[in-house]
Amino acid sequence: MSSKQQVVEQARKAFQTGRSKELPYRIQQLKNLRRLISERQADIADALRNDLYKSENGTQLYEMIGLEGEINLAVSRLAEWAAPRPVEKSLLTISDEVFIQPEPLGVVLIIGAWNYPWAVTLQPLIGAIAAGNAAVVKPSELSSHTSKVMEELLSQYLDKEMYPVVTGGVPETQELLQQRFDHVFYTGSSTVGKLVMEAAARHLTPVTLELGGKSPCYIDKDCDLAIACRRITWGKYVNCGQTCIAPDYILCEPSIQARVIDEITKCIKEFYTDDPKTCPDYGRIINQRHFQRLMGLVEGNSVVVGGDTDESQCYISPTVLTGVTADSKVMQEEIFGPLLPIIPVSGTQEAISFVNHREKPLALYVFSSNKKVIKQFMSETSSGALLANDCLVHYTVSDLPFGGVGNSGMGCYHGKYTFDQLSHLRSCLIKRLNMEAVNQMRYPPHTAKKLQWARLFLLRQVNLARWRQMAKVAVLAVLAAFVVQRFLR
Ligand code: NAD
Repeated sequence: MSSKQQVVEQARKAFQTGRSKELPYRIQQLKNLRRLISERQADIADALRNDLYKSENGTQLYEMIGLEGEINLAVSRLAEWAAPRPVEKSLLTISDEVFIQPEPLGVVLIIGAWNYPWAVTLQPLIGAIAAGNAAVVKPSELSSHTSKVMEELLSQYLDKEMYPVVTGGVPETQELLQQRFDHVFYTGSSTVGKLVMEAAARHLTPVTLELGGKSPCYIDKDCDLAIACRRITWGKYVNCGQTCIAPDYILCEPSIQARVIDEITKCIKEFYTDDPKTCPDYGRIINQRHFQRLMGLVEGNSVVVGGDTDESQCYISPTVLTGVTADSKVMQEEIFGPLLPIIPVSGTQEAISFVNHREKPLALYVFSSNKKVIKQFMSETSSGALLANDCLVHYTVSDLPFGGVGNSGMGCYHGKYTFDQLSHLRSCLIKRLNMEAVNQMRYPPHTAKKLQWARLFLLRQVNLARWRQMAKVAVLAVLAAFVVQRFLR
């Protein structure tokens, strides 16, 4: 038995003990995770500084607060999420118990990415714990310091048989993917997403794919450009552009392009000083391979802002590119770095058509004071999320399902959505063995009269929540039984 097989076996054995089905156990594990985040802040921040040159406050703001919020929500709402969910009944099932019972799936594999390595790895884990699953956690090898700290800390704070961590690179992930899981939750590129789905298909294992792609950003000329560019500059250059929902490129009319460049230049200075390289809030590219890849994307375009680099530090300053066309290299793949191309369009209609000729994005940004323009984008395009007049902030709303559509992913998470995504929503109907007469209409011989009754009983929806007085329900049930006894026997 290979070591990966052993890890999965051990997690499955832990799951089969049934201890993760108990709500107090799940809550305790979630609280332990919360304790880890607060007690080991310094270790977490050190690792992220080494991996991506993130500042300590930035780590809190962009990764830890969100995790804490998700844990708090899960702890306070778990009893409600895990409880049976009554559904509407028909006349036929009026005296039955009809409900959805969420139940754990079993062993979940969580494969994380490196850009926000704690957020994208632990957030699915919170849902996996809340839903009562065991989980094998595979952090990205590219954020190697974080991966090591995560392995050490999770085993100290959590039930390590139930939630083991596997570190390593592509071969280790591939070996893991050969094992049988009950769900695979993957965050990363669309290319690898396809390999993950292919591997999961061999075991008919369902997948959640949190992928990326190019998220467009349209700036309408009817817009407060100073405010729009401020929000866009923030959304683009945070974490050095390595954010799955960062605005990938700007679409705007040529008449406002110079103002857009001017405003973005001002904001870069305001946020990151005249020398972003020495600014503690400006990050670094994850490694030299990605640095080289980004350098390749600059070629052939005009650098109108930034363009300073230092390969030894994987540093690329906040950069704006013009002279970009749909055929430019920078438009063929997700940028995932601090390069912001501006592409001229003749107006809203051309911007929409540009978006619709490409893969469905993870996020779509529209900046406009004109509500009609925003509505037009809503009705004529599709994307994982649509934001008007801001960037990224939808990620922070636990009540919004976070995820892609088409090439940007499948499935969604955050808050209760993670719980549901990692649960089996089991349909339950509990009948008693009396009132057999009501069933006559379904037993052969099938007569026209029985069919008439069946139509009435099956098609009439009964929303019990609306029925204030239970007595009415009882009277109806008795009446139904009487009718069947009298006319159908
Ligand atoms: P990555 O290289 O770290 O890969 C992610 C995971 O896949 C890692 O754990 C890695 O070990 C594994 N992996 C890589 N190659 C593999 C292979 N050939 N076979 C099996 N496993 C393999 O991360 P990445 O793909 O560079 O991440 C960046 C991408 O992730 C971007 O496209 C970004 O938009 C996307 N992303 C999406 C979200 C989201 O929530 N939708 C969040 C963060 C990042």
